[in-house]
Amino acid sequence: MNLGVYLKDGLKLYNTLTRTIQPFRPINAGRVKLYTCGPTVYNYAHIGNLRTYIFEDVLRRTLEYFGYSVKHVMNITDVGHLTSDADTGEDKLEVGAKREGTDAWSVSKKYTQAFLEDIESLNIKEPHVLCYATKHIQEQIDLVSDLEKKGFTYRTSDGLYFDTSKLSDYGKLARLDVKGLKAGSRVDIREKKNKTDFALWKFSQEPGKRDMEWDSPWGTGFPGWHIECSAMAMKYFGDHFDIHTGGVDHIAVHHTNEIAQTEAATGKTPWVNYWIHGEFLILDSGRMGKSKGNFIALNSLRKKGYTPLDYRYFCLTAHYRNPLSFSWDSLNGAKNSVSRLNEIVIMIKEDLGTDYESILERTRTQPEKKYLMSFENKLANDLDLPEGLAVMWTALRDESLSSGEKYRLVLKFDEILGLGVKAFGVEEKLTKDLSDLIKRRDQYRVAGNWVKADEIRGKIHERGYDVRDTPKGTVVKKRR
Ligand code: AMP
Ligand code: ZN
Repeated sequence: MNLGVYLKDGLKLYNTLTRTIQPFRPINAGRVKLYTCGPTVYNYAHIGNLRTYIFEDVLRRTLEYFGYSVKHVMNITDVGHLTSDADTGEDKLEVGAKREGTDAWSVSKKYTQAFLEDIESLNIKEPHVLCYATKHIQEQIDLVSDLEKKGFTYRTSDGLYFDTSKLSDYGKLARLDVKGLKAGSRVDIREKKNKTDFALWKFSQEPGKRDMEWDSPWGTGFPGWHIECSAMAMKYFGDHFDIHTGGVDHIAVHHTNEIAQTEAATGKTPWVNYWIHGEFLILDSGRMGKSKGNFIALNSLRKKGYTPLDYRYFCLTAHYRNPLSFSWDSLNGAKNSVSRLNEIVIMIKEDLGTDYESILERTRTQPEKKYLMSFENKLANDLDLPEGLAVMWTALRDESLSSGEKYRLVLKFDEILGLGVKAFGVEEKLTKDLSDLIKRRDQYRVAGNWVKADEIRGKIHERGYDVRDTPKGTVVKKRR
């Protein structure tokens, strides 16, 4: 294992469970089990959701960078997530089906596909296991049966519930003041015994009417939202694993309830050693919601001329534990930085000549080591990417570094940044029409016929490419 090439101390991460930055120690040396809560696939992911997946991708890349072998599991919530966290309201998938005049299964398929395309375009590594709640119904029924046998459940007219008063440490992740909640409770808790109790299995109000429902020992219905993550994480990772993540909104309810039901079933604590949460992306108009009007998806950015990687860069400029305010101006700033990075990398490649990849074989020089050490230490300090980016820009502006040193450094940094630096300036195969135009333009340039050369520049431009003159001839680059 290569615990950081030049790292002074090991990796440190902020653990919501302890509210401190702790040294990271996996349960099995060199291996990390990482479970990240995935999307509820009833609509496109909004850019707030995507911020969380980018943070989780940086976390996974960091673990891999420091030599850990990571197994990454992510769930797809395609049933059971209701419009209210209080276990009331409609199933979001059924809402999506009504909205689109189709059924919940088609909605799930459509938006899972859209999600996979989104993460690919953001250079987010695909999880090793993508598990669907609807494909793990038996596992969920088995877990609920186990909880029932152990006396943690009770029945109401609309479902089977978990009795949170049976656990002495319920709410430890969020540090909930359970007694205070009881005393101050004026909200209608319907037939629930405690305000914090939650549904494990919900009954179909009219069996046969829902698109998604299953038989169970308690009646026809569907699983509660929280039980899917417990059942699937336990299936793939067992009763003790390393890291579980999600957005900060999951701390008080979803993750709190996952811990409650899993630890009640296994009788062991802690289930997960490190709980890591990403802060929200916020808009001037407040919290972004898939069900609200202020919904921005990746396509909304594309329509305004921004690429997914501009957005990825934008997210990297803020620490994952700080809220990030979205504005078109700041996204524009990110776009400019990505364009600048593009230009610098292309200049470096031109300077290195055609076999620029061979430079990667050489041993690292002292100045490179200095920059790498600095970058790694920022990264290891609870993923301080804003500082990591600052190290990258300082290195790229450092005139004492050669192009080879810069190229090797930026590629190494990009293992974490995920901006696809290697492909910068490398065009996909040009069409014959385009290469003919470039050839003709070169001939005119050599002949000093600038008028004709400019005319052809215009034609190349019309085909979506920018033209640059270099000592080696015309170089075209697809406009971003
Ligand atoms: P959902 O699809 O609603 O289940 O949410 C998917 C992920 O996005 C979860 O980890 C949420 O915590 C996270 N999330 C939701 N809204 C935001 C936001 N505005 N900013 C960052 N993350 C969010
Ligand atoms: Zn979850």
